[in-house]
Amino acid sequence: MSTTKYVYDFAEGNRDLKDLLGGKGANLAEMTNLGLPVPPGFTITTEACKVYLDEGRVPESLEQEIAAHLADLEEAMGRKLGDANDPLLVSVRSGAKFSMPGMMETVLNVGLNDESVAGLARRAGGNDRFAWDSYRRLIQMFGKTVCDVPGEAFEHAIDDAKAAKKVRNDVDLDADDLRRLVDAYKKIFKDHAKRDFPQDPREQMDLATKAVFDSWNADRAVLYRRQERIPADLGTAVNIVAMVFGNLGEDSGTGVAFTRDPATGNQGVYGDYLQNAQGEDVVAGIRNTVSLDELELIDKKSFDELMDIMAKLEHHYKDLCDIEFTVERGKLWMLQTRVGKRTAAAAFVIANQLIDEGLIDLDEAMYRVTGGQLAQLMFPAFDTSGSPKRIAKGIAASPGAAVGKVVFSAAAAVAAADAGEKVILVRRETNPDDLPGMIAAQGILTSRGGKTSHAAVVARGMGKTCVCGADEISVNISGGKFTVGGLTFAEGDVISIDGSTGEVYEGEVPVQPSEVVQYFEGSLAVDSSPLVTAVHRIMTHADEKRRLKVRTNADNGDDSGRARRFGAEGIGLCRTEHMFLGDRRELVERLILAHEDDERQAALDALLPLQRDDFAEIFRAMSGLPVTIRLIDPPLHEFLPPLEDLAVKVAIAEASGRDPGHDADLLAAVRRMHEQNPMLGLRGVRLGLVIPGLFAMQVRAIAEAAAQVRGEGGDPRPEIMVPLVGAVQELETVRVEARGVLDEVASRTGVDINALIGTMIEVPRAALTAGQIAEAAEFFSFGTNDLTQMGWGFSRDDVEGSFFTRYLDLGIFGVSPFESIDRDGIGRLIRIAVAEGRATRPDLKIGVCGEHGGDPDSVHFFHEAGLDYVSCSPFRVPVARLEAGRAVLDTAGSDSR
Ligand code: ADP
Ligand code: MG
Ligand code: MG
Repeated sequence: MSTTKYVYDFAEGNRDLKDLLGGKGANLAEMTNLGLPVPPGFTITTEACKVYLDEGRVPESLEQEIAAHLADLEEAMGRKLGDANDPLLVSVRSGAKFSMPGMMETVLNVGLNDESVAGLARRAGGNDRFAWDSYRRLIQMFGKTVCDVPGEAFEHAIDDAKAAKKVRNDVDLDADDLRRLVDAYKKIFKDHAKRDFPQDPREQMDLATKAVFDSWNADRAVLYRRQERIPADLGTAVNIVAMVFGNLGEDSGTGVAFTRDPATGNQGVYGDYLQNAQGEDVVAGIRNTVSLDELELIDKKSFDELMDIMAKLEHHYKDLCDIEFTVERGKLWMLQTRVGKRTAAAAFVIANQLIDEGLIDLDEAMYRVTGGQLAQLMFPAFDTSGSPKRIAKGIAASPGAAVGKVVFSAAAAVAAADAGEKVILVRRETNPDDLPGMIAAQGILTSRGGKTSHAAVVARGMGKTCVCGADEISVNISGGKFTVGGLTFAEGDVISIDGSTGEVYEGEVPVQPSEVVQYFEGSLAVDSSPLVTAVHRIMTHADEKRRLKVRTNADNGDDSGRARRFGAEGIGLCRTEHMFLGDRRELVERLILAHEDDERQAALDALLPLQRDDFAEIFRAMSGLPVTIRLIDPPLHEFLPPLEDLAVKVAIAEASGRDPGHDADLLAAVRRMHEQNPMLGLRGVRLGLVIPGLFAMQVRAIAEAAAQVRGEGGDPRPEIMVPLVGAVQELETVRVEARGVLDEVASRTGVDINALIGTMIEVPRAALTAGQIAEAAEFFSFGTNDLTQMGWGFSRDDVEGSFFTRYLDLGIFGVSPFESIDRDGIGRLIRIAVAEGRATRPDLKIGVCGEHGGDPDSVHFFHEAGLDYVSCSPFRVPVARLEAGRAVLDTAGSDSR
């Protein structure tokens, strides 16, 4: 029987084995094989972890495998684990495939006990202080990690020791102090763990290993994975690494560094160093670190070697790396590296630098940045040059920079917004009742809940700025205030929240438009900053690379113009319903109330010139590019006043003996037209078939506007789109009528505009009978919002605020199907429609006009599914362009989570 190999020496691994060895283990192996100074060690695989978590015990063969690798390690080091005279010590380190900062556990100095502590001191040249310091760290870390001893118990003890001696820093404690501290720690350990601190080194190592395995399922790790969408079943590897010591004195120390600035992408190393310290001391902030430059003054040899290694790593990984290192008495050791996390701006800037440095090509650079990062760069940002006071930091749930007066209830938010005030809705958490307030507010701040909380999900859906889970803030709704760090904020006080960073500021922080948007708008030159240069270069490449065209959803000249500057290659969805609002509502009322054909026709005749002007404006802005105009879609009663308002008006009039007149007619119409499920009622193509002349008027307006703009020398390219078709007969009826109107306008004006006639595919039946529908359609455009609603059988407005959070928690979907296309279900309808539509009509033009057209993941799907274009709101056009380029490259790839 072949047994699984569960343990790999560092020399046996490499960076591609992250699934098996975890990120830390795979990269330690990579560095080992590069010949870098990595302390020897081995990795216990994620497979072993999975067996342990599934079966509650480690695999049978593991014990012996570890013993064999430990023996090799002991031989290489010339010492035995925990030997009384000259002990080998090891660290037991977690390391999952994706880094989960601070989520999991590591134990240092394993192998120390009451005897080997003396041996360690002797080996360090009689350095008792160092040995006892290492021992107390072991008991502390082991106690916390393996036996759940509360960390504060140890922290109090060390604080007491410092206080007794009247010193501030742990380095001021001498060997005797630390020896006493070890006694205190052992007592704390026993009190909580109900056993003595284990003296057997191998038992220490095995218990620590299991504790690391277990830490995979710690609450905070589970929560983090859910937020970062890291699969729950990966498990963690465990790395056993020979200890090197940064706490041997002033000629030793430990540090972290980045090969470039991860905030801006600027070239040059960044890092922190701490003398006479071990492991986590650097990030824990127990003493002030010095900047990496100072290491050059402290220990030039180690510094130079470190610079060399960092350059080597960048060349090897062809990317920004972050590292952990330790200097032991003038000897440099590398303890960790990985491709480092970075901000959106740094991602673009670094990718561009790496092209110049010849390390990567344009494809790779484009692949390394994402549409999500580009979107972040397009939000207006706070100008923090005036150093505003930061009062809290929560989870960056939905990007943007929002400023407003604090309110604590949805009602207050609505009232303030009605009065023209800008407000930030502050809640402990939100629920569906808060929805009107969330809509009215500039931004939302909650003290509880993560990236999938109600507030976060709904805010993202609305594109509203949101910071959630800012747990330093204590919200007192009934008291009408919140407190944080000794400050109190009452209703009406101004705060600023940054949904891209999670930061919360006191007062009004000035907002500046994003430089990337200014560049897209054409008001910033390509070379105005390293970021703009990088964005320009990568976007240019994406445009060359992509097969999908990108259009925009716009229904006026301004939006069309902006979208065009942002790179839109036409309009994929021009909604016409907005053209029936405002003053024109009255004409729609006349249309609805008409009893006779001529009354109806009079109303339509009055609408015609208005519509014509609307279309002409858009054709001018989009001259030379296709403009897809959707005939009217929503139920007509949406244009009438609400039933309650009318009922009240009529009742008041009648009670005071006045004739309610027109209102009574309207009320009767509203009652007559009332629908239980308007989304599934008289709308879309059904309107066109039921209300004589309505669609014909719109088609005429399109044709006449096009003829007019052509006459001005423009190049209008209208495409007429019929919504909500479920059967070819519906479309055919509308098509015949529309062709008639087009021909009539052509012969009258002498201008044939060659408008295409096509349909939306948004009713599941349309997708399933696409082969038939293509007989009558010159193009398809997927309305993925309705297709998702009807495919799932739930309405977006009703479900997003009510049960979606629960569904996300349960993992029924990882992300809302309204945000990102549901590939398995709705995606299948799309694939069927594409295949069957093209089978009927090979040159069928196919696009998508739902907001999914601007969602990065969905763009990749539409590319795969063979669509011709995506269409999205103007601000998402650049995102779609980039993702359409990236979709051409293989969709796997570098993932710096
Ligand atoms: P994390 O993933 O939280 O960074 P690590 O496993 O990297 O945890 O270890 C925590 C700290 O201990 C790091 O600063 C690391 O450099 C240090 N460390 C880990 N193993 C050793 C070792 N063998 N010798 C010295 N320091 C170590
Ligand atoms: Mg680390
Ligand atoms: Mg629709």
